[in-house]
Amino acid sequence: MKFNKILENLVNYEAGKPIELVVREYGIKAEDVIKIASNENPYGCSLRVIKAVQNEAFKMSLYPDDSMYELKNSLAAKYNVGSENIIIGSGSDQVIEFSLFAKANPSSKILMAKTTFAMYEIYGKRTGTGILKTTSHEHKIEEFFDIYKNNKDIAVIFLCLPNNPLGECLDKEEVFGFLKEVSNDTLVVVDGAYQEFAAYKDENKKIDPKKLVETFPNAIYLGTFSKAYGLGGMRTGYGVGDKEVIKSLHKLRSPFNITTLSLKAAIEALKDEEFVKNTIIKNFEEMARYEKFAKELDMEFIPSYTNFITYKTKKNSSLICEELMKKGVIIRDLKSYGLNAVRITIGTKEQNDRLFNVFEDIYKG
Ligand SMILES: *Cc1c(COP(=O)(O)O)cnc(C)c1O
Repeated sequence: MKFNKILENLVNYEAGKPIELVVREYGIKAEDVIKIASNENPYGCSLRVIKAVQNEAFKMSLYPDDSMYELKNSLAAKYNVGSENIIIGSGSDQVIEFSLFAKANPSSKILMAKTTFAMYEIYGKRTGTGILKTTSHEHKIEEFFDIYKNNKDIAVIFLCLPNNPLGECLDKEEVFGFLKEVSNDTLVVVDGAYQEFAAYKDENKKIDPKKLVETFPNAIYLGTFSKAYGLGGMRTGYGVGDKEVIKSLHKLRSPFNITTLSLKAAIEALKDEEFVKNTIIKNFEEMARYEKFAKELDMEFIPSYTNFITYKTKKNSSLICEELMKKGVIIRDLKSYGLNAVRITIGTKEQNDRLFNVFEDIYKG
């Protein structure tokens, strides 16, 4: 059978290895495996969310409220915008997809950092658009500016703030300065999947979605419930944008694109900011231990504004990941990005102790 030609250039997203795979392949008991590879919240989610979802479990026979009235209103209140400025996606992933389909096409290009969230490129290629990347792995705003100046047909620019999988983050000033130079016909996607962490660590990294989209109607801010809120399994994310942009993206949204229980979970999660704050505080306490550990092993790391840290290893990163996996510890190899580096999600204290122990043996051995 002949398929759409576009499919020939597509690759699948390499998701973190599931615990079940390690159980099967290495015969380790599931309770002895730790997965600190996909930037999930190691503290789970708010108990309030769990109770609400349990109480509403009987509603799973019903389609969700497709207007997503309550969740949109809650988000609108949180960011001090109108609900017409909000779109809900099955993960912010889906809003990335909508953004690309709304703007990119085979005669346009999209621009991103060399090493950034893989879905920008994967969804981009589905539209047949050209892909431009900076030469630096990390975001360098001057490079974005140079490439933008020299290419007149850039439809979408992705800024991942902070960046996954490297953890660095541009300053707000740099972002706003750059946006001033961008045509109002270029959509700039500001991916704030880890903004809660960055904003806590450094005020200069904090992006206010309202200020962003009011100043630059061609920008869209993306947020997710998968990271700081601990709802990765509920697949809920959102975009905040100018109402014209949001209206266009809505044309691409299928009805009932998130579940009845996901909606409930997200609404409840927004009522427990205490949970998020505790997550963030513990995250950076544990992050300090990861930095100290790297220094002890004389290993370079990228200062991180997220819930993960990237180590530039001297030893082969794939080998390290393989050896760790045999010991029941799953982390993320960055070899496929052309880097000899690993990305480790900051876990609970116990998980991190375990990682340090096993990693040290492998690294020194
Ligand atoms: C996790 C992540 C997302 C989106 O996750 P969803 O679970 O689809 O909401 C988006 N961007 C980046 C950079 C991420 O790391």
